[in-house]
Amino acid sequence: MSKVSRLILVLGDQLDLKSAALEDFNEEHDAVWMAEVAEESTKVWSTKARIAMFVTAMRHFREALSEKGWKVIYREMGEWPSFGDALRADLKKLKPGKLVMVLAGEWAVQREIEQVAEELEVPLEVREDGHFLCTRAEFAEHAEGRKQLRMEFFYREMRQRTGVLMEDGKPAGGQWNFDHDNRGSFDKHGPGLRVPPQRFKPDAITQEVIAMVNARFAKHPGALEEFDWPVTAREAKAALRDFIEHRLAEFGQYQDAMWTQEPWLYHSRLSAAMNLKLLDPREVLAAAEKAWRDGKAPLAAVEGFVRQILGWREYVRGIYWHLMPEYLERNAMHAHEPLPDFYWTGETEMNCLRDVITQTLRLGYAHHIQRLMVTGLFALLFGVDPRKVHEWYLAVYVDAVEWVELPNTLGMSQYGDGGVMGSKPYVASGKYIQRMSNYCSGCRYDPALSTGPKACPFTTLYWDYLLQHEPKLRQNQRMSMQLKNLARLDDRQRAAIHMHAKRVRETNLKTP
Ligand SMILES: Cc1cc2nc3c(=O)[nH]c(=O)nc-3n(C[C@H](O)[C@H](O)[C@H](O)COP(=O)(O)OP(=O)(O)OC[C@H]3O[C@@H](n4cnc5c(N)ncnc54)[C@H](O)[C@@H]3O)c2cc1C
Ligand code: SF4
Repeated sequence: MSKVSRLILVLGDQLDLKSAALEDFNEEHDAVWMAEVAEESTKVWSTKARIAMFVTAMRHFREALSEKGWKVIYREMGEWPSFGDALRADLKKLKPGKLVMVLAGEWAVQREIEQVAEELEVPLEVREDGHFLCTRAEFAEHAEGRKQLRMEFFYREMRQRTGVLMEDGKPAGGQWNFDHDNRGSFDKHGPGLRVPPQRFKPDAITQEVIAMVNARFAKHPGALEEFDWPVTAREAKAALRDFIEHRLAEFGQYQDAMWTQEPWLYHSRLSAAMNLKLLDPREVLAAAEKAWRDGKAPLAAVEGFVRQILGWREYVRGIYWHLMPEYLERNAMHAHEPLPDFYWTGETEMNCLRDVITQTLRLGYAHHIQRLMVTGLFALLFGVDPRKVHEWYLAVYVDAVEWVELPNTLGMSQYGDGGVMGSKPYVASGKYIQRMSNYCSGCRYDPALSTGPKACPFTTLYWDYLLQHEPKLRQNQRMSMQLKNLARLDDRQRAAIHMHAKRVRETNLKTP
């Protein structure tokens, strides 16, 4: 290999030809460096779908770079056990004058790269990731002097700054928020017939990756028979068009709804494409806004969707970089239970959890309310250590990258950050799941019952959670309604709930 003047590091979630790291690439003197390493799939016990998603998207990106005639140094799975080892070996061999990259999606990975560069005395240039609409410095400015970092205020600033869904400096339609239009559930007939989301049939590269993952990671959870994710920039654009045409108009109304054996409903399925940087969020926002302006989707649906991307997605990234690495250690509710084994198999009699976990392992996907109000809610009520919950979420979803997964899991879902992400814990009984889905009608438990053989474990654990944390929750104004209902329980009912909750914990921790 001829001498390399700059080595451009491209990580598995940085697959963007327009990346700031590649903007001044010199074909004659520079080379791109990429590595697949088993460590990334084993440090959390990743599903086969997550492993395949990253590896096949990386190999397609290698093709795209090679087609441009760019020099690519690519380490395939098995060449090196760890990322640090692979990088160290190539830096020693290639002796580049400089290492260039955009900020990694995980604090520890960024730290490791910095350490290797320091150790080998290779200058490292870390560039701002232009994929995001809010830089770390802009977020820090937003956070400066604020006691609370509420998403809503951040989102309004982002709307003003970018002009998305704005008219004459005011929010389109005269309001920032259409949440009250966006909480629908289905009637007993369910979601009905819809155009299924576009599938992306595995090509030769993906088929090879699937075979490799099935052989090398055979013991990892999940399956690859239905793998159909967009894995190139071209496919990601097609997936966006498909969503805008067939699902966006209904997105808002049913964004919180769930239905047995219906993983997609009106969701976009774009998170993995965006997180791997195959798709630019600006393009997604522009396409959604255009659909509204062209009269193809109502404002409430489009605002609901824009809020997820311009609001939540940018906000959680801001929180992550603002509070790491200390954020990872937080455990505000002192939760220390292990994660029940059924999270890795789906083998439980609780219908909602069985459906969501089985789907998750099969596809590497669950939509937001399934993550927040089924798997997340159960872990929260059960008292699982948030670190263990975080590791599970990071392992199972095709879109899981730490900057987005951690604040959602530890903060929003588990209230482990003590109120940075949410003003109160997202706690609810089985009745919430009954209202938003048809899971309960096929379940052996009854969401109205908190004790007795048919008691729904969610409902039992919900009351037990309020009882356990009552003194702390009393300090939170937003919990007052829930605590008022708790006050109606007499001592005998409280003791019965507590006993039953103990049994639920013991039963669910038993290994089969
Ligand atoms: C416990 C938990 C863990 C999560 N882990 C991840 C994760 O690892 N990666 C990830 O991308 N999202 C994560 N989310 C957020 C959200 O559930 C997913 O983005 C969404 O389900 C992806 O499916 P979709 O593309 O069909 O989204 P849609 O419902 O169609 O939403 C559109 C887009 O908005 C963005 N978005 C929506 N909600 C959020 C949110 N809360 N935070 C950030 N972006 C959001 C996503 O980019 C998504 O593609 C998590 C949520 C919870 C509660
Ligand atoms: S009854 Fe409880 S466990 Fe069963 S599906 Fe409903 S919420 Fe889930």
